[in-house]
Amino acid sequence: MNIQWYPGHMTKAKRAMKEDIKLIDLIIELVDARVPLSSRNPDIDDLGAGKARMVLLNKSDLADERYNNAWTEYFEAQGFHVVKVNSKSGSGLKQINGVVQEACKEKIERDRRRGILNRPVRAMVVGIPNVGKSTFINSFAGKACAKTGNKPGVTKGNQWIRLNKSLELLDTPGILWPRFEDQQVGIRLALIGSINDQILNKDELAIELIRFLKRDYPNVLKERFGIETEDEYQILKEVAKARACLQKGGEYDLIKASNILIDDYRNGKLGRMTLEFPIKTAE
Ligand code: GDP
Repeated sequence: MNIQWYPGHMTKAKRAMKEDIKLIDLIIELVDARVPLSSRNPDIDDLGAGKARMVLLNKSDLADERYNNAWTEYFEAQGFHVVKVNSKSGSGLKQINGVVQEACKEKIERDRRRGILNRPVRAMVVGIPNVGKSTFINSFAGKACAKTGNKPGVTKGNQWIRLNKSLELLDTPGILWPRFEDQQVGIRLALIGSINDQILNKDELAIELIRFLKRDYPNVLKERFGIETEDEYQILKEVAKARACLQKGGEYDLIKASNILIDDYRNGKLGRMTLEFPIKTAE
C-alpha cells in the first residue's frame, strides 16, 4: 500500500466519483471497523447528497465486538443503514440484500408509483484505499455474478455487476482519500496499515500503539509479553527482550521489536481491538 495523495489526485478522484454517483441510487461506503471515523472522508456526504446510504463496518473480525455494536448505533443515529461484515470470510454479507432494499425503500416506492416495476437498485462501493473494497466486491458478487455489459452513460470501462433481480453494482469502486492532515487520523491509519508507514518512524508508531494499549487494553501487554512496567520506551524494550530482538553488539533492536508489535496488532494477534470510540470522537 503506497498511495500518496496530492491535490491533483484528489481533484481527479472527486471528479470521477461525481460522474459515477449520477448513475446510482445507493452508496455503499466501507469503513474499517477499527477506525470508523478515521477511515472516512466526510466529503462523501456532499458528494452523495440525495442518495441512499449504507455504511459497512468492514474488517469487523479485527475490531472489538462491543465497539462494533456501539459504532453501528452511532451510524444508525445519523441515518445510515449499517451492516457489520468480514469481507474476507464473507460473514455478514448475507444480510446486505435485505438492508439494501430497506435503504432504497423510497426509490422503490417512487418507481412503483410511476409504474416502473422491478428496476434494480444501482449501487456503488466507496472507501479509502485498503479498506477492503475489492475484497468486498469479489466476495459479495461471488463467481456467479454476470457483468451486464457496457451501457450508454457509463464511464470508460465501468460495468454493472448484476447481483440479482433487484441489485446492480458498479464494478469499479470509488476511492476516497484519507483525512491525513489530522495527525491523529494519520497515526490510526498507519497503525492499521492503511497508509504509508513513512508518516512516522516505526518506533514512534509502536510507542503510539503502546500508549493506546496501556489506556484501552492494559492486560494485553501483560498477558502477551509479561510486561508490567509503565514507561512506553521501557515497554518497547521489554517487547524486544521477549522476542529476542537483539542487535550485533547485544543492544536491543527496537525497530525490529516495533515491527513485530505493529504487525501483531495489524494481524489481530494482539486480539480484536478498536482504536477509536464513538463517544470520545463524536463531539
Ligand atoms: P481496497 O484497496 O479497498 O480494494 O482493499 P482490498 O480489497 O485490496 O483489501 C485490503 C486488505 O484487507 C487485503 O489484504 C484484504 O485481504 C484485507 N481485508 C479486506 N476485508 C477484510 C476483512 O473483512 N477482514 C480482514 N481481516 N481482512 C480484510
